[in-house]
Amino acid sequence: MSARRALSRLCVQLLAIGFVLTAGLLLAGPTAQAAPNAGSAAGTDGLDPALALAYTLAEREAQGAGVPLWIVSGYRTPAEQEGLWQDGLRTYGSPDVARRWVLPPNESTHVSGHAIDVGPQQGAQWLQANGSRYGLCRMYDNEWWHFELATAPGGVCPPILPDASHR
Ligand SMILES: [Zn+2]
Repeated sequence: MSARRALSRLCVQLLAIGFVLTAGLLLAGPTAQAAPNAGSAAGTDGLDPALALAYTLAEREAQGAGVPLWIVSGYRTPAEQEGLWQDGLRTYGSPDVARRWVLPPNESTHVSGHAIDVGPQQGAQWLQANGSRYGLCRMYDNEWWHFELATAPGGVCPPILPDASHR
């Protein structure tokens, strides 16, 4: 083997090693960044499995694009929702007005595991623009943070309702 040929062969081997190392780093990346994701991973607990999967995939794409996105509130127990409902009744004075912002436990899609509230606003905007690829849709005009699995992946989201009282 000529020196020149040996050299070019060495270069190919170095390239291959570089590729493997790079691929390894890329694969290790999400693990190394597990800490910031830990909260959102816990955030899918109790959710309908299809919603949890759709959101997890969407969040991965958002974060890959440098967009922050996490679950602020996902599944809620009936007792937690009852507390929010009572707060709403006190704040808004009547069930009719309170229902625009919060629903009682037997009607809340958070209690049934079919809704997520996300943040920050930048992430929510990304999800509104891209979520339908995963079937995720913004539901209410007055809640930029509230999303549900409301279409098939790649489908068209239903019209956004004015607020939760219009369900
Ligand atoms: Zn919500």
